[in-house]
Amino acid sequence: MRFVDSHAHLADPAFDPDRSDVIARARSAGAVAIVAIGESLAAAARARELSAAHVGFVYFTAGVHPHDAAAFDPARDPAAIRAEVEHGAVAIGECGLDYHYDHSPRPLQRRAFAAQLAIAGETGRPAVVHTREAEDDTTAMVREAGAAGIGGVLHCFTGSHALAHAALESGWYISFSGIVTFKKWIDDDLLRLVPDDRLLVESDSPYLAPVPDRGKRNEPAWVARTVARVASARGVSGESLGEQCARNAVSFFGLRSSVLHLPSSTIASEVTP
Ligand SMILES: [Zn+2]
Ligand SMILES: [Zn+2]
Repeated sequence: MRFVDSHAHLADPAFDPDRSDVIARARSAGAVAIVAIGESLAAAARARELSAAHVGFVYFTAGVHPHDAAAFDPARDPAAIRAEVEHGAVAIGECGLDYHYDHSPRPLQRRAFAAQLAIAGETGRPAVVHTREAEDDTTAMVREAGAAGIGGVLHCFTGSHALAHAALESGWYISFSGIVTFKKWIDDDLLRLVPDDRLLVESDSPYLAPVPDRGKRNEPAWVARTVARVASARGVSGESLGEQCARNAVSFFGLRSSVLHLPSSTIASEVTP
């Protein structure tokens, strides 16, 4: 099986002790690329360094998570995010709205999210969007973004079918994480609702380890289990679903198409001319 982990917090300190082993295990499990999420500007800078150390395999994004939206500085952060795009960030985010935890006041979450969607529009990069218990506002903002030609993905999606349809109608993608392997997951119709060409898979590691490792530190290699679970709900093989989602990730993030042309085990040699 081959796959792209479309959302991993690979720069998280949780991986500091053994990050190179984590990356090696991901390759062995079939990963052909990992998108390292910069959920803060500090994380984005670390993710950029990882991307530079693993050219063609690790890609990075830059943004401010909704949990930290209260600290989003409209005078400074947009310029810093644009600078990361100039340095090769493939997407803006993760950004979005989280009304479950409400770590930042909702108006400030909306302000930071809107500012980052605008940067996505200006730079032509897609947005990586986190949404939890904020369906009405997410729907409105995604529809508005879609109408403005701004692309995006609802990552680690666990929302309603209505929100999924709104995103798909806006031209957006939907990404599933290890949550779909949990016993409490009952919405296989949602796993079937997303068209083949709009589907992504992710680890969201170090969080949300799939069963039977739920509660442990997650890692990109385990996306293979999420691929298998989504594939079985859709009645296709894991191999074909992993391949389809890898193609989607290449197209969505604008990854090097060479990631699809090489067996994962040979990508390490890509950095040599
Ligand atoms: Zn998230
Ligand atoms: Zn995340």
